[in-house]
Amino acid sequence: KGAELGNYKVVALPGDGIGSEITDVALRVLDRVTGTMPGLSVSVNSHDAGAQRWQRTGTAMPEETFDACAAADAILMGAIGLPDARHADGREVNGDVIFRLRFALDLFAGIRPVRSLPGVAATLAGAKPIDYVVVRENVEGLYASRTGGTNVRSEVATDTIVITANGTRKVSEIAFGLAANRKGRPLDGRSLVTCVDKANVLSSYAFFRSVFDEVADGYRDIEREHVYVDAMTAFQVQRPDHFDVVVAENMFGDIISDLAAATVGGLGLAPSADIGHEHGMFQPAHGSAPDIAGKDLANPTAMVLSTAMMLDWLGNRHEDRTAIDAAARIDAAVLRVLAEGQAVTADLGGSASCSAMGDAIVAALDEEG
Ligand code: ATP
Ligand code: MG
Repeated sequence: KGAELGNYKVVALPGDGIGSEITDVALRVLDRVTGTMPGLSVSVNSHDAGAQRWQRTGTAMPEETFDACAAADAILMGAIGLPDARHADGREVNGDVIFRLRFALDLFAGIRPVRSLPGVAATLAGAKPIDYVVVRENVEGLYASRTGGTNVRSEVATDTIVITANGTRKVSEIAFGLAANRKGRPLDGRSLVTCVDKANVLSSYAFFRSVFDEVADGYRDIEREHVYVDAMTAFQVQRPDHFDVVVAENMFGDIISDLAAATVGGLGLAPSADIGHEHGMFQPAHGSAPDIAGKDLANPTAMVLSTAMMLDWLGNRHEDRTAIDAAARIDAAVLRVLAEGQAVTADLGGSASCSAMGDAIVAALDEEG
């Protein structure tokens, strides 16, 4: 797409619950970092989408918002959905926004970094530093039944897993591309891509593995391994420092990335990206947290780190060093605030509000210069 170098158009979807509070912080951080970096500008258009809009108007995402997302260089999403916002058939309304964008824009890879953060109490006893990325296939696998239809007869229900060679190839390429770009695993700095499957039981997963292996053959300097998903959950707890990049089918990726987030301190800290070849959408891994919404209590970290991922993705995509540097600056500012521990939110044991933690992140950006 034709983004003018260093000049990006972003659509922000603050959404529901704490979405608007954390998006406010993210946009302030973005504004400050671009304001101090000549050659980088990001123009943000905010659109109203989500469960609250659906309750008010009957439509979660108007077509003009969808079109704006499709035309943007990136989408920055706060949180979409509320527990009671469901269609008559039981489907959650957030799918009208999240699944619509995921499928229509072919955001086939879910990227979930898993990293120990300074100042955050380790969940695992005696844990070594954790730093890996889960790459989740986002649009097929077992969850393809969600859009493909479920067969429910009176006494039995079945779902169909869909693994395609093309989809598996695409997500495996993303995983190896990421591995090539990273500094390797914390253990020894060597690059490793782990394929998580259940190839011993289901032929669909054996197929996933064989396509993964074909892609791996093209990356001779990156190590590969295969791990069954059940063993994987144990390894994530016992030796998480072993991993670098992990790739998995949709449902397995969903499960192992939630487990992974829990091993590094929980929901308020975990950023994520949904990317394809043409589009990227960036949002915290957590939801709208209605219990704390409107109280200025939410931890903005996951949202701010998602914003950094957005700049990093834009920078890599457009060979724009400045955007990549901007991402690194935001990341460093967040780590500094966490390490100092003075201005952190209640979920981290502090007493700062969401906006005060945002102030501290902005101040940390200024101090680094
Ligand atoms: P969804 O279905 O939208 O993913 P969920 O049921 O998984 O939602 P979340 O909204 O993600 O629930 O969060 C669960 C709980 O974790 C919240 O109710 C809140 O107490 C806490 N939580 C989530 N995100 C944050 C945050 N950024 N800061 C502080 N607490 C949070
Ligand atoms: Mg959730």
